[in-house]
Amino acid sequence: MTKKLLFVAACLAGAMSLPADASAGIKVITATQDLAALVSEIGGDKVSVESLARGYQDPHFVEAKPSFVLLLNKAQLLIVIGKELEIAWLPPLVTQSRNARIQPGADGYLDASQGARILDLPTGQVTRAMGDVHPEGNPHYWLDPGNGVTIARAIQAKLSAIDPANAAVYKQRTDDFEKRLGAAAQKWKASLAPYKGTKIITYHRSWTNFADAFGLDVIGFVEPKPGIPPTPQHTLDVINAMKAQNVKVIIVDPYFDSKTPNSIAAATGGKVLVLPPSVGGVPEAGDYFKLFDYDVNQLLAAIKGTAAK
Ligand SMILES: [Zn+2]
Repeated sequence: MTKKLLFVAACLAGAMSLPADASAGIKVITATQDLAALVSEIGGDKVSVESLARGYQDPHFVEAKPSFVLLLNKAQLLIVIGKELEIAWLPPLVTQSRNARIQPGADGYLDASQGARILDLPTGQVTRAMGDVHPEGNPHYWLDPGNGVTIARAIQAKLSAIDPANAAVYKQRTDDFEKRLGAAAQKWKASLAPYKGTKIITYHRSWTNFADAFGLDVIGFVEPKPGIPPTPQHTLDVINAMKAQNVKVIIVDPYFDSKTPNSIAAATGGKVLVLPPSVGGVPEAGDYFKLFDYDVNQLLAAIKGTAAK
């Protein structure tokens, strides 16, 4: 072997041993940035976490990249939102990862919806064939700080099981997170309290938990059903309902087409408020706390602005 080849071989060997050293800690992959933010709160420097979806993407329909399979292959823990939020894109990638640790039901798999308070639970038999992308209840449950605590506790339990040596660290960090989130939630609720019962429209059924947590009343949706694009008749119904009940604010997630919401706003004297439902949806919403800070402040400004008209 020549000197040059030896050098290359040494570099390769060095490079191959690098990832284990460089990214010390439990390798966690999450479906969304909200979950990644919560993992960082609980795991700190004991974990290295990466989200597959970005916060500005529709979590129902994420474009799968080849790099996702590689990330999943190396993961020790996969955390999903569940309730079929990721069913259109994630399950095939998990299969393709050939990583037995993170398959559904395995020790390295966590469905964060377990234990969370889920709204819009179906009463009759609902199937996706009807076009509804929420057949198991509302999967946008992370937008309630109460559920944030539940998810954090589930993450704590999982990290402690994988890494018992640091269980005390995870417990201390989760206790601290719960305290800080409780105080922040009180502040958010107090700032919206004067507007309790304010009626709003949302594009998708993604703000149900948020509205429930903060005392808002969602009276309708731009989509006729979750995942079904607006139709002229349904749009007319929304306009009439808004006029009849004097509703002014339409919340639209950043990845939806604003054409129909804009025309509804024009017809009703209302306001379209583009609001990120996830961490990373806008640069300001950099973590779980900042997401609520941003959304609550934007919503307050919109309610005050339209009430003054
Ligand atoms: Zn949805």
